[in-house]
Amino acid sequence: MTTHLDAAGLTDGFQLVVDALRANGTDTIYGVVGIPITDLARTAQANGIRYIGFRHEGSAGHAAAAAGFLTQRPGVCLTTSGPGFLNGLPALANATTNCFPMIQISGSSGRAVVDLQRGDYQDIDQLNAARPFVKAAYRIGRVEDIGRGVARAIRTAVSGRPGGVYLDIPGEVLGQCLETSVAASTVWRVVDPAPRQLPAPEAVERALDVLSRAQRPLIVLGKGAAYARADEVIRQFVEVTGIPFLPMSMAKGLLPDSHPRSAAAARSLAIARADAVLLVGARLNWLLGHGDSPQWSKDAEFIQIDIAAAEFDSNQPIAAPLAGDIGSVLSALLDGAAARAVTAPAGWIDQLAERKACNDAKMRERLAENPHPMRFYNALAAIRAVLQRNPDVYLVNEGANALDLTRNVIDMELPRHRLDTGTWGVMGIGMGYSIAAAVETGRPVVAIEGDSAFGFSGMEIETICRYRLPVTVVVLNNGGVYRGDESVSGPDPAPTVLNAGARHELLAAAFGGKGYHVTTPTELDAALSEALAAQGPALIDCELDPAAGVESGHLAGLNPARASAPA
Ligand code: ADP
Repeated sequence: MTTHLDAAGLTDGFQLVVDALRANGTDTIYGVVGIPITDLARTAQANGIRYIGFRHEGSAGHAAAAAGFLTQRPGVCLTTSGPGFLNGLPALANATTNCFPMIQISGSSGRAVVDLQRGDYQDIDQLNAARPFVKAAYRIGRVEDIGRGVARAIRTAVSGRPGGVYLDIPGEVLGQCLETSVAASTVWRVVDPAPRQLPAPEAVERALDVLSRAQRPLIVLGKGAAYARADEVIRQFVEVTGIPFLPMSMAKGLLPDSHPRSAAAARSLAIARADAVLLVGARLNWLLGHGDSPQWSKDAEFIQIDIAAAEFDSNQPIAAPLAGDIGSVLSALLDGAAARAVTAPAGWIDQLAERKACNDAKMRERLAENPHPMRFYNALAAIRAVLQRNPDVYLVNEGANALDLTRNVIDMELPRHRLDTGTWGVMGIGMGYSIAAAVETGRPVVAIEGDSAFGFSGMEIETICRYRLPVTVVVLNNGGVYRGDESVSGPDPAPTVLNAGARHELLAAAFGGKGYHVTTPTELDAALSEALAAQGPALIDCELDPAAGVESGHLAGLNPARASAPA
């Protein structure tokens, strides 16, 4: 595209942002246009960057975060100033919490007016508003700093512990120009944006000491391990040492859930008895009970591999900290393990196998039930059967019961194919993550959504339909937050109650997608199989018993205890 600026030998800020992103391999931007960045989206598109336009910045931000997790390159979210910026911020904060590399670029109002609080269109001190929620926040104040600002944002987002970066570009900077001959020299490609970090040899020895004296060793794989793409060395380490592993939810599939050393079906026993625990890209946060007893053995010794050394000792003493990138650290451990004959004792493997067999049998019984109306397990049994026939499908999952039960029922066979509510347990990621998974991989996506969770980003069904993405949304509809059968005496529905008769599939139909309404596992199997074969947008409203589900899913214990009345 030749513009009047080209003819005058000038390059403006819009073009420079696009040039800087392109120089660093950005091929997709997720966003919502408006003042002052609409021309930035147009310029990106005209220069071969794919622009995916959303209905809400929150979803665009979640899409950028998921793109970062899936590609190891920062996902880019573009927003307007003021409210658009604020709408994107929770997604940027969520990316930071989950250690996903992401950059939110927002246009902003003129500094001179904002800083004197004179009242401008959508004026907020965006840079300072973003700071507490991100890994770093930068503002570009001059057109000649655009290349530098983008390079800095990219380096910060992906190096060390990945996270969210806010990049503020005032509208006036986008409109400034440089001589084209000068402009080219202001843009550069970041060399080796996330350098390898090798562990110290003595740290490796210390870790091997702990592992070699363990009677009941356990490996916990977290989403940091999935992100690191060290799949092959992780598999070798597990198979050479025979140490059982537990995958955190987004690490499922890093090694197949069907792997003989998976301890997922004996999770409580593995955690309660392990005497040496190797954490690989997993934090000892609430998702792992902070490493506290009695959930964990009080004698357990922790070994932790993490790129962020400040993570060590955040909850429990770390007997053997291993600061470095997972690939490099595990290679060093693997070399040492062979020399030191680190293995898992047979008795430990047998204990776990016995518990797995028992829990697997219970699960099979539950899945075989066929009550009417349908309940979570029966719907999930049907979905599981379809996904076993289609193991390369990307799975997005959010909700309370819909999340907890899907995680337990649906096995993953391939790495980085499961994206869910993550470290915050946040609702609203569903459609953004699904769109990014489809756009970044070109593969089919199934989103398993609670009906409440779906509502947080449901309007993005229109986005899915507009871009004809191969996304099938399954709404597990029990008509409520947690469940839909709570009654109250007043005129209004109970706080947990939604509309049990809602026909979510009509939303897909409204925008040109395919809608299904199902009430039995057989219908669900048929609808999902057909939707996957069609490779287009679809929504299946799956009618469940409103009495199915429990309050807060598996997290009921996080609700504060109510005081009981005095006797
Ligand atoms: P989960 O929720 O699955 O347990 P977390 O998000 O708590 O996982 O932990 C991920 C951890 O992985 C973070 O502490 C992060 O610093 C770490 N991490 C991310 N990438 C790498 C990497 N390439 N090498 C080492 N550690 C990493």
